[in-house]
Amino acid sequence: MPVYNPPLRDMQFVMHEVFKVTDEFKSMPQHADTDAETINAVLEEAGKFASEVIFPLNISGDAEGCQLDIKTHEVTTPKGFKEAYKTYVDGGWAALSCDPEFGGQGLPLVVNQCLYEMMNSANQAWTMYPGLTHGAYASLHTYGTDEQKATYLAKMTSGEWTGTMCLTEPHCGTDLGLMRTKAEPQPDGTYKITGNKIFISAGEHDMADNIVHLVLARLPDAPKGIKGVSLFVVPKYLVNKDGSLGERNAIHCGGLEHKMGIKANATAQIVIDAAIGTMVGAPNKGMQGMFVMMNAARLGVGNQSLGLTEVAYQNALAYAKDRLQMRSLSGVKAKDKLADPIIVHPDVRKMLLTAKAYAEGGRALAIYSSVLLEKVHNHPDEKVRKDSDEMLSLLTPIVKAFLTDNGYQAATMCQQVFGGHGYIKEWGMEQHVRDARINMIYEGTNTIQSLDLLGRKVLGDNGAALKKFGKLVGALVQEEGVNEKMAEFINPIAVLGEQITKFTMEIGFKGLQNPDEVGAAAVDYLRVAGHLVFGYFWARMAQVALREIAAGNTDPFYQGKLQTARFYFAKLFPETASLMRTARAGSAVLMDTDAALA
Ligand SMILES: Cc1cc2nc3c(=O)[nH]c(=O)nc-3n(C[C@H](O)[C@H](O)[C@H](O)COP(=O)(O)OP(=O)(O)OC[C@H]3O[C@@H](n4cnc5c(N)ncnc54)[C@H](O)[C@@H]3O)c2cc1C
Repeated sequence: MPVYNPPLRDMQFVMHEVFKVTDEFKSMPQHADTDAETINAVLEEAGKFASEVIFPLNISGDAEGCQLDIKTHEVTTPKGFKEAYKTYVDGGWAALSCDPEFGGQGLPLVVNQCLYEMMNSANQAWTMYPGLTHGAYASLHTYGTDEQKATYLAKMTSGEWTGTMCLTEPHCGTDLGLMRTKAEPQPDGTYKITGNKIFISAGEHDMADNIVHLVLARLPDAPKGIKGVSLFVVPKYLVNKDGSLGERNAIHCGGLEHKMGIKANATAQIVIDAAIGTMVGAPNKGMQGMFVMMNAARLGVGNQSLGLTEVAYQNALAYAKDRLQMRSLSGVKAKDKLADPIIVHPDVRKMLLTAKAYAEGGRALAIYSSVLLEKVHNHPDEKVRKDSDEMLSLLTPIVKAFLTDNGYQAATMCQQVFGGHGYIKEWGMEQHVRDARINMIYEGTNTIQSLDLLGRKVLGDNGAALKKFGKLVGALVQEEGVNEKMAEFINPIAVLGEQITKFTMEIGFKGLQNPDEVGAAAVDYLRVAGHLVFGYFWARMAQVALREIAAGNTDPFYQGKLQTARFYFAKLFPETASLMRTARAGSAVLMDTDAALA
């Protein structure tokens, strides 16, 4: 039977011992009184919801999938999903970190971050129904009119209504400038929207009373390309003045995709046939509002893979301790048994430690990012808000792509730990691999994330944001540079910090002469940057563990943390050398190859 135990101890370690989040909150009036006990107590309950309510629905949901009634256009989600969603709404989980002005509980975003990590571990497909709502909520909260906020935000906060993001069309996913969906202005100030969207996650379902679609479309006089795209809110049911549900709007599900993973999440083809919508933000500036949603979703997708990495690891670890095959190379370990448990074999340990290092490094990065987002929204000092925004903007493509690439690797390694049993369904491991695959594709493929990082976020501002991260690394190197015990963690990041500056300048210089050089280096570059970020967080975690051990703390948690840090720096971090080498190999071997690709 698959297992999932919420990693509360590790979350507490990262939040309270490494980042001391409640100290950070002291400068933000909204959260100044939030203490560690409150955060821990909420997360303990959140862990119960994830492990006891939605985890048991993960395998059955995958097997059953969603059903579309083609006559009514209604979608039925797998058995138990609707009831679990009611438990989620009744428990107030949807409102955890939402604005109290709209009925939210106003807890720090880090609490929501950890709730979502656990829900993603338990059941990614289910979690996407409420998950999409947060991005739509954020977009309306930032760019909505007072009327739109009054109409939608309270119901989205409570979870009674869910949200979607409708960008993709059959002929355009990455290049949204090609979009064709039209919006005709009406005399009453509304718009009639017509078009076809595909691949819309949670686009239709039976879990909530209304679905609030955020739709990108073009006005009749819009300029060509991405500069002519506007954003509209188009509800499944129109909303009466008193807030009650009105007529069914002309937006419906025309089909469901049959797909590799996340089968229990309805991936809908959405037919929009002169549906009534209202504009969010300014005409032709739709990408501004959509970017609020997309940035939230990018962090959210990284979090999906973090969740999958953790649950895959936990199951592979339990199996490796139990499964008996062959004897250890260094002599019999389990004398009373016919063979040793496979956890004695070096390569099995390598696969387990890889997943553990990716999960725990990813957790540190995700929690750190949620604190940055908190500062962007709620810090009273404008400079802190701006600096946090710049840092988060740099880290967002890394969260999205590095965590999802790692998550897929980790899921396949954990499947491998099971041998043939990982390939058959009943252990649940092949589902993790299938579910993890989409995270590298949607919300901007990982290639697009790497171009965003290298092209826009690094070269686009002459490396300024990267230098800010370099300063954090430099400060840690300064602080611990003479501490011999920290040398194995500090030296690699000090060296890479210097190398990456030169590496970036080289690509930037070559890119000025030939832009394909940037495209050819970007994916490798993102992984190098990802390791610099992970290396920094792993060094900080090792620092805390070493201090605790030196102070006489005998909790094995700290030894485990230190050993995982050692493994990370010895076995995973060094891939940066080969990545820089392949990036430096340049674009010619890719672009002068028409004969090879003929
Ligand atoms: C299960 C699922 C759920 C989804 N959910 C949603 C949703 O809720 N809302 C929504 O709007 N969309 C959703 N999508 C769509 C998803 O975001 C797109 O599929 C994705 O962004 C890629 O677009 P595309 O499929 O059109 O691929 P394309 O844009 O055709 O890209 C094909 C390939 O070309 C590469 N490529 C394209 N341009 C470049 C470039 N300039 N440089 C280098 N490489 C490039 C891509 O990286 C990719 O590998 C979902 C998709 C799936 C499968």
